[in-house]
Amino acid sequence: MNNRLARLSWPLLAAFPLVATADVPRVAVDIPPVYSLVSKVMGERGDPELFIQPGASPHGYSLRPSEAQSLDDADLVVWVSDALTPWLSGPIDNLAGDAHHLELMDVPGITTLEYREGATFALNDGDEHGHGHHDHDHHEHDHGDHKHHHHEDSHDESGHDHNHHDHDHSHTGMNPHAWLDPANARRWLDAIAEQLSEIDPDNAAYYRDNAGQGKEELTSLQAHIQDRLASSADTRFIVFHDAYQYFEEAFNVHAAGAISLGDASSPSPARIEKLQTLVNDENIQCVFSEPQFNPQMVNNVFGDTSAYIGVMDPLGVGLTLDAGLYDALLEQLANEITRCTDG
Ligand SMILES: [Zn+2]
Repeated sequence: MNNRLARLSWPLLAAFPLVATADVPRVAVDIPPVYSLVSKVMGERGDPELFIQPGASPHGYSLRPSEAQSLDDADLVVWVSDALTPWLSGPIDNLAGDAHHLELMDVPGITTLEYREGATFALNDGDEHGHGHHDHDHHEHDHGDHKHHHHEDSHDESGHDHNHHDHDHSHTGMNPHAWLDPANARRWLDAIAEQLSEIDPDNAAYYRDNAGQGKEELTSLQAHIQDRLASSADTRFIVFHDAYQYFEEAFNVHAAGAISLGDASSPSPARIEKLQTLVNDENIQCVFSEPQFNPQMVNNVFGDTSAYIGVMDPLGVGLTLDAGLYDALLEQLANEITRCTDG
């Protein structure tokens, strides 16, 4: 800027007094449950923006221009993990390099679990791995310039496996569907409040209060769902993909197997056959499809068995996109399992 322009800009600044402190942080989020948690913390200040179309599988996706724009405009990007969206590291670094980044699986103190192996969680099934389900195009971006803008203290305190930063997306690695454990969601509310407070310090107390209230509500919700599912500990069901392990651990229910792989890619005929045998021989009460993936396939494969065919939705895509979505999502999963239990 030359001096003349600098002088000219002063009256403009005076005419538009500093409104920066009143600006609402622009927050880009990946999936509806994360939208809900961020909304709880932002409260009346505003809404985040989803950069993955609801209804799409986050495991494999490419951004539309408007979604790339929302990343580009963001002050804060909140997303689950490279392990859920391996295609996203490049766009986040390229488009939102200046923004604050909050990768939820890196938040200290959360519970992380490994993917379970095989189609059936009781039997061992060695033929399902190493088929290159990911095309590994995420290896193309420059590892040397791979910035992660979290705090220095946010790594490895819990001793959990953070190998996803090395882009080792093996299917036996960390299961990223960690939002289905409300204890994790409570930690994340604090982490979200902390990030928003750095961007918008004038409202730090408001964000902290909202996070505190959200945590209390999630604690009550958890107790309520634990009660509802108390009689479902022995219910035998098969899920579409291994997305529910955190929910199972939190609420003491147990899937007997998964139709698809951890990233929801298509099952092999051998895997399907194994599951049909399981359903027929092991008194499986329910098989759950997911709205993101062809429910007809589940009907074709399991329609002739005695199992009830239900739908489970780990993302809450059919729910209203607002602060309450997270709670409704857990309630909806509990509804499906109690329906299965009650036959
Ligand atoms: Zn998934």
